[in-house]
Amino acid sequence: MSTRVAFIGLGIMGAPMAGHLLAGGFPLLINSRTRRKAMDLEAGGAKWVDSPSRASEADVICICVSDTPDVEQVIAGKDGLLESIRPSTIVIDHSTISPSATQRLAAELARRDAKLLDAPLSGGDVGARNGTLSIMVGGDKAAFEKVQPILKCYGKTITHCGGSGAGQFTKLVNQILVSTTLVGVCEALKFARAAGLDLETTIAATGGGAAASWQLLNLGPKIAKRDFAPGFMIDLLLKDLRILEESMQQTGAALKLAPVIRQLFRAAQSQGHGKDGTQAVAEAV
Ligand code: NAP
Repeated sequence: MSTRVAFIGLGIMGAPMAGHLLAGGFPLLINSRTRRKAMDLEAGGAKWVDSPSRASEADVICICVSDTPDVEQVIAGKDGLLESIRPSTIVIDHSTISPSATQRLAAELARRDAKLLDAPLSGGDVGARNGTLSIMVGGDKAAFEKVQPILKCYGKTITHCGGSGAGQFTKLVNQILVSTTLVGVCEALKFARAAGLDLETTIAATGGGAAASWQLLNLGPKIAKRDFAPGFMIDLLLKDLRILEESMQQTGAALKLAPVIRQLFRAAQSQGHGKDGTQAVAEAV
């Protein structure tokens, strides 16, 4: 019998990921806060359930909701997974949330003989649609091996990073790299503009050498045109930078740049750019 899968949280990332599972032939249960967002998946053969607890007949339950309290609600809240979870169930949380909350929830699920893998994503809405996401996974290695056929439906680079919480910590490393690089790109292009250089030419000249980065090559041209349409929104990055600051206390890592970077993204948010793409931080730089 094929593995029964459930997917909870059908937003920008979750809906296309669930679509890949359907296309991969997995019998699929779905749930989210707003049922309207499930219409296409239901038309494609997925079965709607009214609450996370009703998803517990699945063998593997994927979650992709917004923030730590949302995952806590889905797992441990009223009508949450813990009310009805069966032994041996594997829960895969694709949301970016607090590593310490992840470890707490994993312990609660373990008391029911169920496993939690933290499996945050990188690659954005385009990666979700194309099935080319990077997935950073923490938790039990055997459970990780078991869910490979599921992760491969939407993931290209799938890495086991360590025990529970290691996926979330790795995602925070990813966000340090992304946000510091992006602010560096903004500062470089600000200088180029002030020096009277053509920005497209500057990006072409520097983007093929040691200064090349995804941020420069993909977001640099948008910054040059002041095109702030979102791929990944400033509001969501600020959520991740908040989790990073909490985790700095947990780990004792005294980072120097991260607090400054967070201030710049906050300034862009208070200028009204919260729902814009992260490249709008250029306005604050
Ligand atoms: P999103 O579009 O806001 O989707 C979140 C979905 O979860 C929405 O459908 C939302 O319902 C649902 N939801 C939220 N809280 C819920 C709850 N308590 N119970 C049931 N459903 C709930 O966000 P997203 O862009 O897909 O991001 C999801 C996660 O992936 C976040 O942790 C984000 O940081 C991470 N991520 C996003 C990107 C990206 O490029 N967007 C990239 C990497 C990682 P409603 O429809 O009612 O709002």
